[in-house]
Amino acid sequence: MSRPAWQHLLGIFGGLLAALACGWIIDRPGLCASLYLAAIVAWQARNLIRFEHWLRLRSILKPPNMDGLWGNTVAIANRLYQRKRFHKRRALTLLRELRRMTSAMPDGAILLGPTREILWFNPMAADWLGLRRKLDYGIRIDNLIRQPEFVEYVAGGGRGPGPRIHMPNLGDRWFAFNLITTSGRDLQLLIVRDVTSEARLESMRRDFVANASHELRSPLTVVRGYLDTLADDPVLDEGWREPVREMQRQSERMHGIVSDLLELSRLEAGSSEAEREPIDVAGLLALMRKEVLARPDRPAQFDLQLESDALLLGAEPELHSIFQNLIMNAVKYTPSAGRVSVRFWTDGLGGHVAVTDTGIGIPAAHIPRLTERFYRVDAGRSRKLGGSGLGLAIVKHALQRHGAQLEISSEEGKGSTFTCHFPPARVQHRASPAAGVA
Ligand code: ADP
Repeated sequence: MSRPAWQHLLGIFGGLLAALACGWIIDRPGLCASLYLAAIVAWQARNLIRFEHWLRLRSILKPPNMDGLWGNTVAIANRLYQRKRFHKRRALTLLRELRRMTSAMPDGAILLGPTREILWFNPMAADWLGLRRKLDYGIRIDNLIRQPEFVEYVAGGGRGPGPRIHMPNLGDRWFAFNLITTSGRDLQLLIVRDVTSEARLESMRRDFVANASHELRSPLTVVRGYLDTLADDPVLDEGWREPVREMQRQSERMHGIVSDLLELSRLEAGSSEAEREPIDVAGLLALMRKEVLARPDRPAQFDLQLESDALLLGAEPELHSIFQNLIMNAVKYTPSAGRVSVRFWTDGLGGHVAVTDTGIGIPAAHIPRLTERFYRVDAGRSRKLGGSGLGLAIVKHALQRHGAQLEISSEEGKGSTFTCHFPPARVQHRASPAAGVA
């Protein structure tokens, strides 16, 4: 074990005393002490030179063999150097491994700095996005990929699902992006996935549904026309009246399904954002109220609470379809003695339209799946009521295009509320507010 520093100093001091004692014996204490001190300084200088030489060439030289304090200092310096070397080697090995793994990754990976500038990317990202080492390092990613959905996504710090971007100039491919951020860190990792085949399959499916629906519409119109003529024919055999009426009902249902499928296809084919015409929601809802009251299956009570006269910025046919579907569902699934109420209001969170009914309600387990295509709680009942199972899918899609959300709350046997929440950017207030209850 090495001796503590004070013992070494004590040794030097002891040596000095011994030199002085010898000096007294020969009557030259000053000379003896000076010689002793000169020897100590020379020894220290020699050790310092050896230490400095080793420090400079420590990667190739063995540590010098020294005694005393110098020995301790060399041992500590050597330990620190070995530890640093070990950590450096480990970091380098990890970095090399990481590089090898990211090169073999099936996805593209791009490391972004605090201002979203490119710091590093793997070969897959380089290949797909045409990134060039050296040239593109330091360039902001949103200067290279300028599609608005992408720019908005990265500017928002990667909140929400990553966008799918069509890149016609990069081999007509589709890429999905996912930004990974860690709290408190300035670096972000952008993961890129080639989703071209998924996007093509989806587009084929969409085209198929749209074409099939379109092709079915014309023959169906002819069949409906003949059935209407047949049903009105006074010489029709009495025994045929009911079958013809049933055929009429079923062809109406088919017409409803085909129209809904075409509407869904239209929504899917459009851009991801609906246009922004100012729509008078209060007027639209008041008109729908009149239509409902003219129906034979109208509910005993239909309230319309218009608490705002603000305009919604959106596409008129889509907003009409959203409210029409929700109101008709409330009417369909509410007994005639029940109540349906529609409320429109605005607040700091945006504009809201709620359709509430006192109908059959929906069991909690079904609520998350209601907006799926053809999903029905009770398929038999929905068919009997002329439902296509596509209404809420249309509502969800049209709302998405307006940046809006659908909230569903329901209690079985008591009734349901379907609320559409539109963001503040889609609300336009008029100069003079007017409110009323119709
Ligand atoms: P459908 O044409 O069958 O009404 P929707 O997509 O509009 O299709 O609705 C899907 C299912 O959600 C319906 O089949 C029904 O079971 C349920 N549903 C929708 N609205 C209501 C409501 N107001 N009350 C009870 N159930 C509802």
